[in-house]
Amino acid sequence: MPLYTNQHLKIYNSLSGEKENFNPIHEGNVGMYVCGPTVYSNVHLGNVRTFMSFDVIFRYFLHLDYKVRYVRNITDVGHIVDDVDEGEDKIAKKARLEQLEPMEVVQRYTVDFHDILKSFNFLPPSIEPTATGHIIEQIEIIKKIIDTGIGYEANGSVYFDVVKYNETNNYGVLSGRNIEDMLANTRDLDGQSDKRNPQDFALWKKAEPEHIMRWPSPWSDGFPGWHLECTAMSTKYLGNHFDIHGGGMDLKFPHHECEIAQNEACTGQSPVNYWMHANMLTLNGKKMAKSTGNNILPGEILSGDNTILSKAFSASVTRFFMLQAHYRSILDFSDDAIVAAEKGYKRLMEAVDALPTISVSTTSSIDIASWKQLCYDAMNDDFNTPILIAQLFEAVRYINLLKEGKETISAEDLALFTAAVNAFVFDVLGLNDDKAADANNDKLEGVVNMLIGMRNQARADKNFALSDQIRDQLIALGIQLKDGKEGTSFSI
Ligand code: AMP
Ligand code: ZN
Repeated sequence: MPLYTNQHLKIYNSLSGEKENFNPIHEGNVGMYVCGPTVYSNVHLGNVRTFMSFDVIFRYFLHLDYKVRYVRNITDVGHIVDDVDEGEDKIAKKARLEQLEPMEVVQRYTVDFHDILKSFNFLPPSIEPTATGHIIEQIEIIKKIIDTGIGYEANGSVYFDVVKYNETNNYGVLSGRNIEDMLANTRDLDGQSDKRNPQDFALWKKAEPEHIMRWPSPWSDGFPGWHLECTAMSTKYLGNHFDIHGGGMDLKFPHHECEIAQNEACTGQSPVNYWMHANMLTLNGKKMAKSTGNNILPGEILSGDNTILSKAFSASVTRFFMLQAHYRSILDFSDDAIVAAEKGYKRLMEAVDALPTISVSTTSSIDIASWKQLCYDAMNDDFNTPILIAQLFEAVRYINLLKEGKETISAEDLALFTAAVNAFVFDVLGLNDDKAADANNDKLEGVVNMLIGMRNQARADKNFALSDQIRDQLIALGIQLKDGKEGTSFSI
């Protein structure tokens, strides 16, 4: 029987403001869409936190034996600087500043994004669609919204009439904002804009002559508004009504509010059952952001190359640090906090490594089944990773008592215990055992040093064909030998 049948998951739904029982639309299946990065610069550790929150959510659904279609897009057009409609596309701006083709910018930072997620042990999503690959779908949605009278064209651009929409729907249903307050608190448009109301948002923008990223449409050569891409890609791959939509807390308004409005206008139904928002990673108490420079890059954590860091930290330690906070809580990054996380991570891994050395008895003095259910209870309670980690430290305590002979465990329970610890630590939290990786590095070092010794011997024997062969084959494997006064060293 699939695990989800006897685990009762609750999810905090931003739409209702409550924890709700998770009931998927199609039994045994989960459709989940998460807003991906805008690929105009390197992702920072804050972005990594949001994607990690959803990586663990994805992992837990898989662990519960759900069949998951996880769609996470790449925003490669249409995200305007400062997220307002008047301005320059972030990717086009970067391309102009660096004298690159916009697609060179997109390629560079998409590769960077993938490399980083891989080094932090993320599972790849099931589908990773791009906004530029779905222009036709976006144009079709705009046509439908115009047909309802809620979309209107002005000077080659198309806008969404928020006031008209709000006559029959609730613009503000997700963010709790009230349209009258929004209108009262907005500056006059000074006749500068083609919009009917200041709150209206762009579905399509006519491109200025110098704008490189442009596509033909019934209204103008132009480009789609930012909110539209997620409506197009989520419904294309998950249907007009799907289970989960996620993103960072800062996307709730306007991005997700506008997505709901677009879907409602286009299909007459609210698209998503559970809206999930991950909270921010802060630095010095302020949100990490690309634009303000208040951020740390993932590579800096791994190399220690940032003045606020006392040393380098591994990807698993960083993951452990992040998952010690619940995904809906703000987490402040500091060197002290990640140093403390490293200690906790090492204590956990030492205990995990000691599991195979535990001796078994005829009976168990520990109730493993109850402990295991407490781990599930933690994750079933809106993916509460800090409580799960607390339960894993309870397991560490058991392991130490078992090692000291102060508790006993049967062979059957030890197998259950080992499988559960490994499942939660490696499959659900997505941690890696750095010691295992270090051990492999030690082995690699041993093998290369052995080859260096053989090459030295070949050179002493004047067998230069062999010594060159060893050097060249190592180079082909990406290992460079360096001969110096102190002997030969190598770099990978
Ligand atoms: P962006 O590329 O700016 O669209 O951001 C990608 C994702 O990272 C979005 O879901 C954002 O909400 C999220 N994000 C941005 N800054 C932070 C932060 N400081 N902490 C956590 N998530 C963030
Ligand atoms: Zn989105």
